[in-house]
Amino acid sequence: MELIDGKKISNDKRTEIKERVSKIKQQTGKVPGLATILVGKNPASQVYIKSKIKACEDAGIKSFHHNLNEHSSKEDIIALIKKLNEDSAVNGILLQLPLPQNKDTQDCINAISPLKDVDGLHPFNAGLLNLSKSWNEIIERNILVSCTPLGVIHLLHKSNIEIENKIAVVIGRSNLVGKPLSMLLLANNATVIMSHSRTKNLKEICKSADIIVAAIGKPKFVNKDFIKNGTVIIDVGINRTSDGLCGDVDFDAVKDMDIKITPVPGGVGPMTITMLLENTLKAFRGCSH
Ligand code: NAD
Repeated sequence: MELIDGKKISNDKRTEIKERVSKIKQQTGKVPGLATILVGKNPASQVYIKSKIKACEDAGIKSFHHNLNEHSSKEDIIALIKKLNEDSAVNGILLQLPLPQNKDTQDCINAISPLKDVDGLHPFNAGLLNLSKSWNEIIERNILVSCTPLGVIHLLHKSNIEIENKIAVVIGRSNLVGKPLSMLLLANNATVIMSHSRTKNLKEICKSADIIVAAIGKPKFVNKDFIKNGTVIIDVGINRTSDGLCGDVDFDAVKDMDIKITPVPGGVGPMTITMLLENTLKAFRGCSH
């Protein structure tokens, strides 16, 4: 087993981002800004928001945090988003999900200016991703793509893992992870199989894969029966269990196989916040055109 070290790859990228922010400041006198919105007091969301604010500070990106109480209506959230859309110091807007009761989430996301949509969840950006024909086009057109999938591609590129011509099985079809990641793998010329809770013969399908991405949200779901030697495994899952944090892959059960794998924690997780910083810089470039 060979570990794909998300922590190191993420740290290297954050150093590069910090240097770019400092250059932007020197050249324009401006600093990119990210606004975060947390509705309610979900403890996991509070931890994520804290890490995002700290990562911004470390990189020299200005952060503007807004806490709304858990009873805030859709109109309250949209009113704040509209204010931030108009604020020239704010280049990116991140609405922390899930919203309490998961209510009206897409309506709130739709209110974010597509130019400031650093989570890539606005239909405009999701549409651009789907219409793109290649990875180069995604980069050249400065398309804002969901942070976790972008982080996964960055991990694969930086680990010199070939994507072109490989069979990639993505388990999970969420708008946040599975779908955009499948599009990114396709843009990198993989042959992509999107699988989900209704997929039959998942084990057999996974056994045909060169790359498996597990984005399910079920602790240790993927075990030895899904994997052949030589496979690259990206574990997106973050599951809190009584034994602590674990991924969607049963790491202990597969660690003696001839595979490359991301650990949990220390794999995809750090990349997600790093890509949020990257997207904030992208949005800054987009606004200054
Ligand atoms: P989600 O609940 O929106 O989607 C889960 C997907 O898994 C669904 O599409 C469903 O079809 C599929 N699924 C469920 N049961 C299945 C089964 N038995 N077989 C095959 N597919 C099945 O979740 P999400 O937002 O995509 O997140 C997935 C996981 O990734 C979660 O653990 C989440 O915490 C984690 N996550 C991690 C990061 C990170 O930064 N590392 C970011 C986002 C999400």
